[in-house]
Amino acid sequence: MNLMPELHVHHPATLAEAVRLKAGLPEARFVGGGTDLLVNLRRGLGEPGDLIDLGAIGELAAVQRIDGELWVGAGMTLADLVRHPDIAGDYPALADAARAVAGPTHRASATLGGNLCQDTRCIFYNQSEWWRQGNGYCLKYKGDKCHVVVKSDRCYATYHGDIAPVLMVLGAQVAIAGPGRVRRIGVAELYREDGAQTLTLGADEALAAVVLPPPDARRVGYAKARVRDAVDFPLAGVAAALRREGDAIAELRVAITGTNSAPLMIDTAGLSAQPWGDAAAAKLALSLRKTANLLRTTVTTAKYRRRAMQKMARQLVDRLWAEAGHG
Ligand code: SF4
Repeated sequence: MNLMPELHVHHPATLAEAVRLKAGLPEARFVGGGTDLLVNLRRGLGEPGDLIDLGAIGELAAVQRIDGELWVGAGMTLADLVRHPDIAGDYPALADAARAVAGPTHRASATLGGNLCQDTRCIFYNQSEWWRQGNGYCLKYKGDKCHVVVKSDRCYATYHGDIAPVLMVLGAQVAIAGPGRVRRIGVAELYREDGAQTLTLGADEALAAVVLPPPDARRVGYAKARVRDAVDFPLAGVAAALRREGDAIAELRVAITGTNSAPLMIDTAGLSAQPWGDAAAAKLALSLRKTANLLRTTVTTAKYRRRAMQKMARQLVDRLWAEAGHG
């Protein structure tokens, strides 16, 4: 690890002040818990010069029920999110996904917004500066070629957040604050499939809140594969939301993470109005294979991650189907 670079840290008291500051400092980075950003800075990845600390902004840690929707401030820590009665009671899969992030000390600092906005990862990028000097820089940072897809002109680093896919199958949105404005978009629209620039946020925008729709009868779950159960990013993760009517699927939503440069929804259009079983599972497996683009961006092979993703998806929907059948 390098020494922390020279930084000027700003401490705005309100979100409006934070986005005003950012508009004047386009190279600055927002920092919440810092569990992703500060580690990358210690590894020599980026020299922002200025950090805008969001930790003292009370409105970012608030949870409010507005017209049936639950607004969860982007500055809420994952530990608080797991414990919050409205989230644990009405959105247990979201609490489960947050509980599956890293270890307890990370979750005590890491925030919801930071988790959604975390950088993509790659074994040729998340290394020390001396490692990159010895082995070669790459397209994402200081270099001119990708070591994973050699002839590519874009970065394939992988998005490994646990929470985004659950929010996507829940149909959640994010509220984004810019100078003098707030806009709302679906969680999937927060991302693009580009490992070097995965967020669609403008240079003067900050994630303000996650907006959860009113709870409904869907069964929702999340499963992840990882090297060390106590702490790791997902090698692959699957979220699913199922609405069952009698012996038929009324609606199935599936989203994946740890496979592409963005968390992605899976096409399940052909699965409605039929029972869940081997035939439906085979269709889902085909859709998963078509969407997931597993490459050599982690220490574990793409083949293992692909098979783990498919197995987890089958087991997860099996469980949700059985739970839905018991009312
Ligand atoms: Fe670099 Fe390629 Fe890895 Fe992106 S996918 S971080 S460009 S080696």
